[in-house]
Amino acid sequence: MNKPASVSDQFDAVVVGAGFSGLYMLYRLRQLGLSVKGFDSAGDVGGTWYWNRYPGARCDIATPDYTFSFDPELENEWTWSEKYATQPEILDYLRFVADRYGLRSDIQFSTTVTSARWDEQEKRWTITTGHGQEIRCRYYIMATGCLSMPKSPDIEGAGRFAGQVYFTSRWPHEGVDFTGQRVAVIGTGSSGIQVIPLIARQASQLTVFQRTPNFSIPAHNGPAPADRLRQLDEDRDGYRHDARWSRIGVPNEPTDVLGVTASEAVRRERFEAAWEQGELAGIVNVFADQLFNPASNDILAEMIREKIRSIVTDPETAETLCPKDHYFGTKRPCLDTGYFDTYNLPHVRLVDLRKQPIVSITEDGIETADESFGFDAIVYATGFDAMTGALVAADVTGRDGLSLKEKWAAGPSTYLGLMTAGFPNFFMLTGPGSPSVLSNMAVSIEQHVDWVAGCLKDMREEGLDTIEPTELAESGWNQHVQDCGAITLMPTANSWYMGANVPGKPRVFLPYIGGVDAYRQACDDVVGQGYLGFRMTGPGADRCRDGVIRSMQPDVAMVLEFLAAMGLPPMDTLPADDARALMAATAAARPPGPEVGEVTDGVIPGPAGDLPYRLYRPAGPPEGPRPLVVYFHGGGWVLGNLDSDDPLCRDLCERSGAVVVSVNYRHAPEARFPAAALDAFAAVQWAAANALELGGIPGQLAVAGWSAGANIATVACQLARDAEGPHISGQVLICPVVDSDMTRLSYQENGDGYILTTALMRWFWDHYTDPADRGEPRAAPLRGDLHGLPSTCIVAADFDPLRDEGVAYAHALEAAGVPVRLARARGHTHTSVTMVGTVISGAPVRAEIAEALRNFFPSAEPLEHALQRS
Ligand SMILES: Cc1cc2nc3c(=O)[nH]c(=O)nc-3n(C[C@H](O)[C@H](O)[C@H](O)COP(=O)(O)OP(=O)(O)OC[C@H]3O[C@@H](n4cnc5c(N)ncnc54)[C@H](O)[C@@H]3O)c2cc1C
Repeated sequence: MNKPASVSDQFDAVVVGAGFSGLYMLYRLRQLGLSVKGFDSAGDVGGTWYWNRYPGARCDIATPDYTFSFDPELENEWTWSEKYATQPEILDYLRFVADRYGLRSDIQFSTTVTSARWDEQEKRWTITTGHGQEIRCRYYIMATGCLSMPKSPDIEGAGRFAGQVYFTSRWPHEGVDFTGQRVAVIGTGSSGIQVIPLIARQASQLTVFQRTPNFSIPAHNGPAPADRLRQLDEDRDGYRHDARWSRIGVPNEPTDVLGVTASEAVRRERFEAAWEQGELAGIVNVFADQLFNPASNDILAEMIREKIRSIVTDPETAETLCPKDHYFGTKRPCLDTGYFDTYNLPHVRLVDLRKQPIVSITEDGIETADESFGFDAIVYATGFDAMTGALVAADVTGRDGLSLKEKWAAGPSTYLGLMTAGFPNFFMLTGPGSPSVLSNMAVSIEQHVDWVAGCLKDMREEGLDTIEPTELAESGWNQHVQDCGAITLMPTANSWYMGANVPGKPRVFLPYIGGVDAYRQACDDVVGQGYLGFRMTGPGADRCRDGVIRSMQPDVAMVLEFLAAMGLPPMDTLPADDARALMAATAAARPPGPEVGEVTDGVIPGPAGDLPYRLYRPAGPPEGPRPLVVYFHGGGWVLGNLDSDDPLCRDLCERSGAVVVSVNYRHAPEARFPAAALDAFAAVQWAAANALELGGIPGQLAVAGWSAGANIATVACQLARDAEGPHISGQVLICPVVDSDMTRLSYQENGDGYILTTALMRWFWDHYTDPADRGEPRAAPLRGDLHGLPSTCIVAADFDPLRDEGVAYAHALEAAGVPVRLARARGHTHTSVTMVGTVISGAPVRAEIAEALRNFFPSAEPLEHALQRS
């Protein structure tokens, strides 16, 4: 072991932690010719694998994948003995790596870094250790681990127990013999599930205290998977490339089978295959929608519960072991070897803490609400203060005396999970906001280390010596991380991913769930765009290209990718009928939208013949009449019909509680301007006159529309105002066409690549109107008189060419004294908000629309009053 020095020292970089991350970081920094000092509280290298020495400790990513890949020679020199190696073997491997590259000489062990402070004058960090050393360095790199800060057991009386106490995360090096002992294990997460079967082999009596049952599948350990080894043998580079560009850092073909639509046979076959394979990469990929759709997740979860029931012989114990309070995958799924079978042993007992909570640890055991237990030893497998624990504990103070703890009081804030504003030259490996714990960490660690090393190299080559993210870039990334989590079921669980296991820790989704591949691409794009979102300085240099690297909603991006892969012809190159057929074909393949109480079709008299309509009545009480919304579909006055917007109408009906009457209107080019607008006005007049028959409350009528449908909806409002009736309570305009001016900034920014293109918009206008008519308020309502129009809700989507005209309409209405609510569809395109059931992130926007609709109407107005008023 190195002797702690007591003198000040200067280094280019300090690396804290000597696990996978710290070792590789040290190696790369040395390659760059930098002077580096490493520290670790541990007595040797290994990190996780130094500390977690409990019996049964193993990796749960297969060894061909859970290994360094930066040096093919290293790979050739090391052979793993098992599919899932034990802790001693992984520790041996990391020792071997440290020796092979001579890394130990730069690491000071048994030394905790207690604080770090940025000196703005010197542009250096001062690092202080528990031994009182002060080290100065330019770059401060925390390789302190996501799961390295054990959570202290928050149990009454924990210090009183007179017997032996063990923590899985701080296991004695000499091992523990439980032979003949009465042992308690508290905690059934990954570590608990690994250690319990082994303790059961020795203990005379084992009692497991379980708060939350966890999903676990059998590891089927054995030799390293032959197919994987063969692939590596044949094409190591290709294999590693596939891992780096995969979703979780293990090469795996993502499935497109949806749990909700697959046949029972397909579901069963896919599940059984994953169960037999015994790999996390398999069980998280049974259905494409398992982490997004509760119904799909339930199908998978129930199949796992069936397995548990088939293994555990006592039905009550089996039921207690069946996880029912969280969706599969929203807590870390486990791999086990004989875990559930252990409960069939006569000397093993499960105590359900939900039924009988622990009241206190006593001198000789544990007291629950119902019983007193005597024990010789208590084993805590109670987990970690994950992802932020070790970072915050190391007392990092950045510019202006701001500490990381203060900055992160409401939850961590990072750019790419790598850096945080206000803390120049401070890097976190696998920090919050990166895929880290949701991935094969060997791959994620290498990617982070490579990124940091590449960054320092680039800085040196350009004569720069400080780097720090901007506030804008960082808040944009935080938003993206949360957006990615929000479309999954992850936020529904009380998991350590959400910080929920540590009392007082803010509830924030900590890792990045967009995928290892998407994340790598984002990091590469940041560099490719000249370190977008970073300020970098050096002698005489100060450069910053500010911006947000990902601002599109993740599911919207997925839809765009999917459509791009389909290679459909641009609509504006097709005759109108072909474009209509294409739209109908894509509409047929989407989810149907929510159930409503009643759907009826009919026709209404229009100015030039009958117009079909479809009426949606909400399910459930109240029975009587409800507010009425007349809705007009989108499609550039050329495309669309009652079917095209059916899911959206169902959604509007269900969310708002209003009766929605979707009206079809004459289309161009067969019926050009102003046919559609006149039909819309006629439909509104008819609906107002027939409100009661339609199940509506007379006088409580709003209009709504999307795109060109919003255009004719608001034109109808202008016409109704001019005609002094009918009374319209409000208008909802979703991404409306309100002007024919195509020079606004949003056309420049979004005119290509987001489904509604400038070319398509021109095609629509050409079909609908003569150029001479395009300034007419009935075509371009923004140019009309806006006084006296009803309350308005306008949805403007970030990636819509029509965004700025929608915003301009909102401002113009406001200026004319109209109450306006401008709902920003953040990260959305012209079409994505309407993609009910496909684009999950559109739901909050539609909820806002529904709320606006409800607010248009006086609440609970008795029908007699409404009748009198109308
Ligand atoms: C039981 C267990 C099993 C796991 N299995 C897998 C698996 O199968 N696959 C997978 O991908 N991941 C697994 N993980 C996650 C695992 O943590 C990572 O794979 C990887 O080992 C992390 O390496 P690291 O170097 O980033 O952090 P760590 O290995 O945690 O190392 C961090 C080091 O930093 C030191 N340190 C922290 N703070 C300070 C300080 N202030 N001063 C000095 N030293 C400090 C710690 O002592 C520690 O040694 C597992 C984790 C656990 C706990």
